[in-house]
Amino acid sequence: MTSTSDPALDRTAHLTRDLIRFDSSNYGDGKSNGETEAAQYVEAELSALGLKPQLFDAAPGRTSVVARVEGANPDAPALVVHGHLDVVPAIAEDWSVDPFGGEIKDGMIWGRGAVDMKNMDAMILSALGEILGSGRQPARDLVVAFFADEEAGGVLGSHYMVDEHPELFDGATEAISEVGGYSIDLAGQRAYLVQTGEKALIWIKLIARGRAGHGSQINSENAITRLAGAVARIGSQEWPVRLTKTTRQLLDRVAGILGQDPQQVSAEELAVATGTASRFISATLRATTNPTMLDAGYKVNVIPDRAEARMDVRVLPGDEVEVMARIRELAGPDVEVVVMHEDIGLETAFEGALVDQMIDSLNRFDPGAEVLPYLLSAGTDNKALSMLGIRGYGFAPLRLPADLDFPALFHGVDERVPLDALVFGTDVLTDLLLRY
Ligand SMILES: [Zn+2]
Repeated sequence: MTSTSDPALDRTAHLTRDLIRFDSSNYGDGKSNGETEAAQYVEAELSALGLKPQLFDAAPGRTSVVARVEGANPDAPALVVHGHLDVVPAIAEDWSVDPFGGEIKDGMIWGRGAVDMKNMDAMILSALGEILGSGRQPARDLVVAFFADEEAGGVLGSHYMVDEHPELFDGATEAISEVGGYSIDLAGQRAYLVQTGEKALIWIKLIARGRAGHGSQINSENAITRLAGAVARIGSQEWPVRLTKTTRQLLDRVAGILGQDPQQVSAEELAVATGTASRFISATLRATTNPTMLDAGYKVNVIPDRAEARMDVRVLPGDEVEVMARIRELAGPDVEVVVMHEDIGLETAFEGALVDQMIDSLNRFDPGAEVLPYLLSAGTDNKALSMLGIRGYGFAPLRLPADLDFPALFHGVDERVPLDALVFGTDVLTDLLLRY
């Protein structure tokens, strides 16, 4: 696909729209439309900047792209700047626009991936174009990576790349990517949330077994009854609040901005006070165990001998063993708990030269704005990179209107991003790459 020329659109908006038009839906369980076409588009953009991108296929269609950019200071450790090229599927009937049309209206680009995360993919390409196109260099070496398969845990993307091609990340110590750097509104004060950690994820399957039989007979070993009980117990479990260092720091700052005494207000109340961002923040106060899929039976008058459910379990870093033990207890003796996919939690300090530069770059383009750390309730490819000792942050800078419910747009219907937020993000990212 060639880029459609529209002089009214700036470079980042063009790139975002082009990338949205590749339907790279990832359905999970290895099923996907594939990322190859989007990867080839990115390859062409990087090549046009004089770089030498390499393509890697973890499986047919599952393509990741990596390129190295030489920095002005070869002695500084390299920075990984990464995005993912896949998106979650979109049910077109639910949308008010074509989810893969990249439509532009009301000052925004609409489409699947507009916030997660073809916007940042485009900002990375655009910032590099800005820097290299004007004959400049980033301050340090960059490893620029666009991964496949993030939306299914990165098995055929970041994890594959880290396992099979770790040499690509030689010399890199830090990384920046998605779900951080965006602004929220705190009682009229704009604040940017930089992601400095992620909950661990554990995707589990519950398998209830029982005695098959006629639907009219008494059956005290009904697999569905057993499963339903376990699902209800685990799904409605009220997990205890535990504040990690990041969340404590965040809530203290939030309390300060809102003029509240953190000793008098509960963590839950403070999380709610962050407004739309509470979708992310409230879920970082404790574990969550959400049932997401159910599968049992084939005929209304037949009791099946087996029933299955799936759950998305997210726990605070370090709580994995304790939470899984409690889940097994709640599941009961007749329901087996199988871990299908597991990935680690992360937490890093909100300090150091990179964090200072993020704050400085944000404030250069939005003077006086607050910059706060937060823990992400979901996960990113930073988990895979951490296996190589690379410390990852969520930093995809966007200055957003106070009334936009941004966290709801991740994986949401009518996903969209303001055009001027993309301009802001590209400016901040360019500044950061030039100066850090
Ligand atoms: Zn994402």
